Amino acid sequence: MIDTPAFLDTNRPDTPNLVVDQGVVPFYLASRPVRGRLVRPGVLTDTLLTRHDNPDVVLRLAGEALALVAGLASALKFKGSFSLQAKGDGPVTLLVADCTDAGALRFHVRSDDEKVAALLREHPEPTAAQILGSGYLAFSVDQGPDTDIHQGIVEIKGESLSDMAAHYFTTSEQHACWVRLYCHKGEEGWRAGALILERIATEGGHVSDSAPEDGDDAWETATTLAATLTEAEILDDSLSSETLLFRLFHSEDPCIGQPRALAFGCRCSRARLAGILETFPTDDLDHMAEDGTITMNCSFCNHAFHFQRDEVGRAAG
Ligand SMILES: [Zn+2]
Repeated sequence: MIDTPAFLDTNRPDTPNLVVDQGVVPFYLASRPVRGRLVRPGVLTDTLLTRHDNPDVVLRLAGEALALVAGLASALKFKGSFSLQAKGDGPVTLLVADCTDAGALRFHVRSDDEKVAALLREHPEPTAAQILGSGYLAFSVDQGPDTDIHQGIVEIKGESLSDMAAHYFTTSEQHACWVRLYCHKGEEGWRAGALILERIATEGGHVSDSAPEDGDDAWETATTLAATLTEAEILDDSLSSETLLFRLFHSEDPCIGQPRALAFGCRCSRARLAGILETFPTDDLDHMAEDGTITMNCSFCNHAFHFQRDEVGRAAG
């Protein structure tokens, strides 16, 4: 089955037509066993987060998750999407963020507002661990219908989402990874970012002929330099990603790859939500209808879809 491309689907809501050209900048360090990605969705972060009315601490976590999946999806070598799902027993019971190979981003949060308020009274600046509680993180790659979903699951471990993601990679990947995620609401609205480093077996695209301990030193140096990146720098729209990467790694000969675009990427459609409504019992549909109209909001982009009661299910009476 071929999905109608979003731009041809007249049943889709008008979503912000926003593309950030250099949202993800891949790079590697010449003669070093290190490659990485710098993720900066810019104003797109604000557009995505402000469509949800969750408390700021929850949106901040969602912004970090968006930056993370944007970086990870940019490594996909095929058509599909990369998603992160965090499920726990904390005030936020579910956080889903995903990004397609084309850079289309979206997220969805399920939270208990009273529990969030109670947490904030006790901890005004809660950690991701406090927001999510105990549970698990699942990272999955979905290549579309008729294909298997590749999924990796780990227990939630660590205080921040950066720690949790690093824990996942340490346990599931064959190579070392370093992850730092950022999200903050400033004067210009929400901004997020990610810096992800991977230790690879080759150096600058060539098979290493140096001793492994040289690689250890090079990896150590790269992560030490990466850790000097400040939130103010990565979230500053006026600094280019190239400038930032050279500022961080100038001693290690950074080589910049082809930047990837990021975009507003909800894939909801009226037809899909109508399909969900068709599965509801008649009584439920009758209860949902107000003055004959059922309103359903997309959980990802929060767009409200309106259906006449007699359009869906078996019409009452
Ligand atoms: Zn949507």
